[in-house]
Amino acid sequence: MIKELFLGTSIAALIFLVILGYNVLPLLLMGGLGFFLYILIDKKGLPGSSANFSGYVQQVNFTFDDVGGQASAKQELKEALDFVIHARQIAEMGIRPLKGILLTGPPGTGKTLLAKAAAAYTHSLFLATSGSEFIEVYAGVGAQRVRQLFKTAKERAVREKKNGAIIFIDEIDVLGNRRGSNTGHLEYDQTLNQLLVEMDGLRSDDRVKILVIGATNRDDMLDPALLRPGRFDRLVRVDLPDKAGRYQILKLHCRNKPLADDVDLDKIAQETFGFSGAHLESVTNEAAILALREESPYIHQRHFKEAVDKVMMGEKLDRKPSKDELYRIAVHETGHAIVSEVLRPGSVSHITVTTRGKALGYMRQIPEDDLYLYTRDYLEKQIQVFLAGAGAENILLGSQSTGSSSDFQQAVQLARQIVTAGLSPLGVIWEEGLSKDVLHDTIQEIIRRQEKAVEEILTARLEVLQEVAQVLLEEEYIGGNALRQRLDQENRQVLN
Ligand code: ATP
Repeated sequence: MIKELFLGTSIAALIFLVILGYNVLPLLLMGGLGFFLYILIDKKGLPGSSANFSGYVQQVNFTFDDVGGQASAKQELKEALDFVIHARQIAEMGIRPLKGILLTGPPGTGKTLLAKAAAAYTHSLFLATSGSEFIEVYAGVGAQRVRQLFKTAKERAVREKKNGAIIFIDEIDVLGNRRGSNTGHLEYDQTLNQLLVEMDGLRSDDRVKILVIGATNRDDMLDPALLRPGRFDRLVRVDLPDKAGRYQILKLHCRNKPLADDVDLDKIAQETFGFSGAHLESVTNEAAILALREESPYIHQRHFKEAVDKVMMGEKLDRKPSKDELYRIAVHETGHAIVSEVLRPGSVSHITVTTRGKALGYMRQIPEDDLYLYTRDYLEKQIQVFLAGAGAENILLGSQSTGSSSDFQQAVQLARQIVTAGLSPLGVIWEEGLSKDVLHDTIQEIIRRQEKAVEEILTARLEVLQEVAQVLLEEEYIGGNALRQRLDQENRQVLN
């Protein structure tokens, strides 16, 4: 109303001045500039100011069925949300409302998706923001933004006729860091204090029920005051998906993609141990891009296999090693593959000498099943696979190269794990009490024994090593089945 009155009076004054014969051009220019600045501030707020900061309201038509895997996280979250849905009964029973839920877990596991699904489940307004948006160099701005955020959540929920609002704060560790840990930066502490004040102010009889969902990969960094009962009451872990979870996520992201009959998502799920939901989404996307590049109307299993390589190792590079180097790489990778296949038949997915990311070539193993505990036998076999690249170079080329350094690091890491887990001949040890020399000698002894075992495996299969390395040199790629066939032939010849 005031705006309209001001605008009307200004136009009338301008017309009056024109009639009197004044030049109004400078006034018009200044007015235009002022209006432009007003719009800019109104929409974005000045840098460092809190004006109109309110998070981002998102319309969500996203349900828990659209989140793959994460069965226990979904279950826990739904149980907590039922408190919000039945808020009236909760208030009648005198139970204090649930104010905050903290989702913790590695990046890309679906924390944001779960928060969105929670908003749809409770028919709430969804307001998303990130911890970093509260941190400004100007003291007091962060705290003001927190106040503004809660105010906006209430107002928008009323306007959209919703009984509840979910405020989602991603990277909450940025704003919820332990107070005093940011030395000389009172701004952080003030912002966190304001969040605590706002959460403490939430009541079960509020017209709009506000629930704060925080997400972090670092819950160990959070100020204990945030985790106190009455604030973030529930801690829900959102872990990397297991095989069944990976299968579901792949299926969800393939819903809108044309799959060929040979596609076996279960196999892809098995080969992608350690992948997050975001990685898996990327695999399905890359597979579709590869099919499009080949002008294939359908996505085939080979596209998925290559997409997994790309997500795991990076884009193919044009860098071409010299012929001698390429042969060395082929021998090295074949060594890994033969030992892997001999120790655990069926474990090789494929071998290639294509350069991807930092790797000049690689052998990809099919993980057995999702394993969370390892026996000594398993660890020793895994060390043998790591050592087999250098072993093959030694046997066939008479020398090693720097290409094995990262293999050695991983082998030593596993040997160390054998010692610290009490699986070595030293038995259960107290690591700090163990002298460096004893630790070194024990690790070296483990490595020596595995080196010997590798040498035996490879010298008994020298012909296969030579042949497969040669095929690899010519064709760049060899599948696990082709390698297995060649190894079977060799076995039969030995038996005859
Ligand atoms: P960050 O910690 O990095 O913020 P996040 O855990 O919040 O990550 P999201 O943003 O929810 O992860 O997920 C990123 C993308 O990964 C999603 O848009 C989705 O495509 C995919 N994704 C991750 N987890 C799942 C899942 N469980 N089901 C389906 N898709 C998933």
